[in-house]
Amino acid sequence: MRNKVIAGNWKMNKVLSEADQFADSVTASLPNDDNAEAIVCAPFPFLPSLVEKAKGSDLKIGAQNMHFEESGAFTGEVSPVMLKDLGVTHVVIGHSERREHFAETDETVNQKVHAAFNHDLTPIVCVGETLEQREANETMNHIENQVQKGLQGLSDEQVSSTIIAYEPIWAIGTGRTASSEEANEVCTQIRNIVQDITSENVAEKVVIQYGGSVKPANIDELLSQSDIDGALVGGASLEPASFLQLVEAGT
Ligand code: PEP
Repeated sequence: MRNKVIAGNWKMNKVLSEADQFADSVTASLPNDDNAEAIVCAPFPFLPSLVEKAKGSDLKIGAQNMHFEESGAFTGEVSPVMLKDLGVTHVVIGHSERREHFAETDETVNQKVHAAFNHDLTPIVCVGETLEQREANETMNHIENQVQKGLQGLSDEQVSSTIIAYEPIWAIGTGRTASSEEANEVCTQIRNIVQDITSENVAEKVVIQYGGSVKPANIDELLSQSDIDGALVGGASLEPASFLQLVEAGT
């Protein structure tokens, strides 16, 4: 049985006091269930404080990006060493907003995924198609390409501990969710691709999330699907009550 993993992606939102208030209220009410994991992926400046506040609770703290090098002349970047040192456990890699606005490619995604494992961080690797690709029936090819390239060169053990987030770009922040069947169809395909590049055993273990306008009203139906093991959530992860409802759905 795979765990249900709910990860909030705050994007570029909140100030430190709001982040702290969120952590105080969520850590006080998080359901105590080993089968449901809760992660908040926050902007870099909030990470030290969030890690401190999450100590002793089941809330895990993730970053939304990182560089693949350990240190050096990369002005403005944050390294996996820095994240690990803070006590961060997860890192989102290859979010579609980073691919679109910051020139992330499947190659840099792959370098970052390797760097995450080299520093004992769990990568949440995002894949997803544009509306044009979906309408041109290119979804499956595109996803296959992104998954194969993103996970290239990883050991079976590393693949089995990767979290893959299927996020159709047309459903992110638009209020338009993929139907649970549409989402599951692609998540099943992702599991099959993982099986092709590793083994059935690894594919059975890998956690595959859906992301794209997930909210308390649609999470139950999404999580009831055979290959959806959790959600990567933007807007609905910003308020403690709504985030807690999403985590509760995974219990
Ligand atoms: C996201 O940020 O990855 C996301 C899916 O956003 P939203 O839930 O707001 O669509």
